[in-house]
Amino acid sequence: MIDRNANVLLIYTGGTIGMVENAESGALEPFNFSHLRSNMPEIKRLNFNVETYLFDPPIDSSDMSPFIWQQITHVIEDHYDRYDGFVILHGTDTMAYTASALGLMLDNLTKPVILTGSQLPIGKLRTDGKENLITALEIAADKDAAGRPIVPELCIYMQNLLMRGNRTTKVNADHFSAFNSPNYPYLAEAGLDIRYNEQFILKPDYEKPVYFNYAMDSHVVILKLFPGISRESVRAHLGIPGLKGVVLETYGTGNSPIYPWFTDLLHDAIGRGIVILNVTQCLYGGVEMHRYENGQRLEKLGAVSGYDITTEAALAKLMILFGEGKTPEEVNRLMAVSLRGELTVRR
Ligand code: ASP
Repeated sequence: MIDRNANVLLIYTGGTIGMVENAESGALEPFNFSHLRSNMPEIKRLNFNVETYLFDPPIDSSDMSPFIWQQITHVIEDHYDRYDGFVILHGTDTMAYTASALGLMLDNLTKPVILTGSQLPIGKLRTDGKENLITALEIAADKDAAGRPIVPELCIYMQNLLMRGNRTTKVNADHFSAFNSPNYPYLAEAGLDIRYNEQFILKPDYEKPVYFNYAMDSHVVILKLFPGISRESVRAHLGIPGLKGVVLETYGTGNSPIYPWFTDLLHDAIGRGIVILNVTQCLYGGVEMHRYENGQRLEKLGAVSGYDITTEAALAKLMILFGEGKTPEEVNRLMAVSLRGELTVRR
């Protein structure tokens, strides 16, 4: 039920939704919020209050950074008590990274924070932005019979689907349906009505305060394996000065080559205290290192399982845990713990 007294804060960071075409180059560029507002008279017809917070200048989300994630977190913390929910307009390119990071930075969230955007600018006749924005705002204002928000989670809403943010990945550069949540059910689907899958929505502890976590350490890297990967390339990745964690994108259920130069380099890196987090390159399913000899070798070397976590959430989790000053042993242990529903541990 939409709360008619609800106050929702709309945070505009940029992205295609508010972009316009440069007359000379034809490229889409970020544009100011008044352009977006003038193309969205529908916002005034909502029967609850929407206020706005603007990032100036708005950005293409390819320019997103941990520093901006911290700024967004600050905006939410500063306005948390005054609003019933938050909608963040964001480019789709790095939206899954932002959703993964914010999903872990906002602990014990008791209000909805919904990221949305569009594949076509709001000024285009066929834009997907209007439905995305209006429905995201309605979800942010939606309450249950007890007056509590229905989705007190960090989510992405795109093209009829509401997904847990730290489970998402961008799967399509072209279709309006750009995101998926391969290893976790949708939190809601919007058709004639919005149908919530309540059993899959996180339940916060309303007695405890929400905790805003700003810790971030970017001494991490993603290393994607491929047949023919060179020793120089692996050595260069693992030799990055100050490196603390590696998201190792392996094959299938978590397998990697076992030729000696490769295992020697990993053995050496783990010996230097670098966390090697094993994440599958597959979209669906997760890491189960016991299944094959190659996976078992990786486990014996000391790589830790990422289970069914996405690369985006794995990266964010490493950044946050190292940012909190955790030791490699603590990080290894916490990788097998679902902090905010970002993974399912299967033994
Ligand atoms: N390049 C754009 C961005 O991520 C793409 C989009 O919004 O869909 O900001």
